Parts: sequence; structure tokens; C-alpha cells
Amino acid sequence: MIPYGRQHISEADIEAVVDVLRSDFLTQGPAVPAFERAMCELTGATYGVAVNSATSALHIACMALGLGPGDRLWTVPITFLASANCARYCGADVDFVDIDPATRNIGIEALTKKLELAERQNSLPKILVPVHFTGRPCDMAQIRELSKRYGFFVIEDASHAVGSIYQGSPIGSGRYSDITVFSFHPVKIVTSAEGGMAMTNDAELAHRMELLRSHGMERDPSRFQDPAEGSWVYEMQSIGFNYRLTDLHATLGMSQLRRLEDFIARREALVARYDALLKSLPVTCPAPLADMRSAWHLYVVELETNHPRAAVFEAMRKAGVGVAVHYIPVHLQPYYRDLGFRAGDYPRSEHYYARALTLPLYPDLSDAQQETVVRALGEALA
Ligand SMILES: *Cc1c(COP(=O)(O)O)cnc(C)c1O
Repeated sequence: MIPYGRQHISEADIEAVVDVLRSDFLTQGPAVPAFERAMCELTGATYGVAVNSATSALHIACMALGLGPGDRLWTVPITFLASANCARYCGADVDFVDIDPATRNIGIEALTKKLELAERQNSLPKILVPVHFTGRPCDMAQIRELSKRYGFFVIEDASHAVGSIYQGSPIGSGRYSDITVFSFHPVKIVTSAEGGMAMTNDAELAHRMELLRSHGMERDPSRFQDPAEGSWVYEMQSIGFNYRLTDLHATLGMSQLRRLEDFIARREALVARYDALLKSLPVTCPAPLADMRSAWHLYVVELETNHPRAAVFEAMRKAGVGVAVHYIPVHLQPYYRDLGFRAGDYPRSEHYYARALTLPLYPDLSDAQQETVVRALGEALA
């Protein structure tokens, strides 16, 4: 079976991780800050807080921004569950903004209208989580304008977008947001097995997230509430978790990051080939990128309505092609339906979902395998 996504592990990755096993620190050693610095260099952000997943990063980002009961977080339906769940961990309410069918990212018109209405109804969000779906940057300049006008924070869910660039600024630079979150899950652009990172340019937010990642333990005496009896003293002033990344994981992530440019270049080459190979088939390919670079986490086509997606999906699986569907709209999950969401609430997201099919895309996908994918799709659509 050709999978839809897969990690690329080199001998250098393996050696780097084995070296950590022979070193003094399996966790809380030098590898985590080194990985954080490398991500700061890549993105231009001042601070990176490495954690054990992007889900953890989203959680501590929301907490650091003070999200709590009675607050609202808005995101899109076409994303992974975690972009919305992070609000629920904080006891806050979730609401969704429909997508733009052309980019499949948050719809700026839909967002603008929803904000105008929310202002009148006194129900503005505290945090907006735009998702750079498949690696394609959202329209961050417009989102920043709106965030200033209406006074909400922005957390970019850049789980798909390590290495993406928006109008000359790397995703993660913080030029248009408060915090940016990356994922290092094996299907994403670079992997640390499990892992994530929250980037910010705000020293206080970075400090809060560092505390949240490790039990809320404050070790800086200048920040203590009480005089310290000795240098062993730490203070817990607020609740935290154990969301730490290990040195094994950070080292793998760091080693992978050295090949980021190769990974994206291969993904781009495969995308150009898909665009050409799929021309004669009745599918809608991703729209061209304007003034931006996508890391190309996913390649999603939309089928025409006379081709039922389920039948095409099963036929391709039978042909050994591991197609996938990204994503089931979050508001249609039973948990969110129990909170009051219904089919029909976000028609553009639901229309997209009904026709979406993710084709295999990863650096080790060979040209021949890609041709097998296209042939299987052609047969499934015949
Ligand atoms: C993968 C993903 C996450 C969660 O990442 P983990 O590192 O697995 O926790 C969050 N948001 C989006 C959009 C993702 O694709």
C-alpha cells in the first residue's frame, strides 16, 4: 500500500538519536533548547517552546493567552480536531468560520461578516486559530487587520506549514500573530516522532508557556512570591503539566530540519507533476499559490459530484493506494453536535468535504509510484 504520507529517516537521523542514548541526558538536556533555537532561526521568531505535540502547544498557547470559561475561540471546520479541542481544555466555547472554497483556508469574507455580527451581539472571540491547510498560508495580513480592529489574539495552527512562507515572511515569524504552533508528527513536514513547538516574539508569553509545559515550576528567584530559603527552591504559582519534549525527540527533529529544503523541494516537484498528470481527469486540483510558498503537507483533489467519493476511495484502497480524507468537518463530530452544531452550519466546508480526496505525497514517493496513483484514480473515475 502506498501511504498518503510517510516520514523520511536517514542514517544521520539514526546516528544522532543513538548518540543521545549514549549521552548524559535523555530529557531536559541540551537538545531541546538547540531545537528551539534552530526553529527560531528558520522562522525569525524570538522564542520557541518545544513540547510533546502540537496539541499540547495549542493547549498551552490558549492558556498563556488567558483563555478560560466564558471566552470564545474561533477556528475552521476543515482542520484536525486539536485546533478546536484546545479551547475545550480551557473550558472555553468553540465557534467556526467557514472556509474559502478556492484556498480551503479560513474565508476572510465569512470572518469579517461573523465579526461584525459578533460585535453587535457582544460575542467576539478572544482567540482566532487560522489553519494553514495543507501548508498554504492563510491571508495573514487581513487576519491581523481584523484582530487589531476587534481585539482578539491570533494563534496560527501551522502544523502543516514548517517551511511555508507568506509574503516574504516565514510562517512562525510572528509578524501577523501572537503565537504560531508547529507539529512534528511523522506525516508532517519534519518529524520528531511526536512533538510540537509554539513560537512567539513575546517574552512574557514564552515564559508562561515554559512554565505550563513543566508543572508550573518557577525557578527564577526574581519571579518568586516569597523569599527563597536556598537555591533548591522553586515555586508553583499556577497549574502546569508535563508536556516536555525529550532530548531523543528533539535531536531527531533537529536532524530532520537540516533536510527541510530537500523535503519541500521534492514535495513541490511532486505537486507540479500531479498538476500536470491530473489535467485530463475530472478533478479540481489545488489552486496556484500567489506570493507565497507552501510546504505542501497534503495534495487534496476535489471530485466532481457525479463521482461518489466513497466509491472512489474504496476503489483506490483496493488498488493499493492509501488515499485519505482531510478533514471530516469538526463541527459534525458527535461531541460538537452535542454542543449544538448541525449539518448545514458551514456549507462551504461541508461541500468541500463531500468531494475531497487526499492523494499520497511525501518525499520518498517515487515518480513511478505517483504514476500508479494517477492511473488508479483514472480507473476509479472511469
Ligand atoms: C497534526 C495536526 C495537529 C496536531 O498535531 P500533533 O502534533 O499530532 O498533536 C493540529 N492541527 C493540525 C491542523 C494538524 O494537522
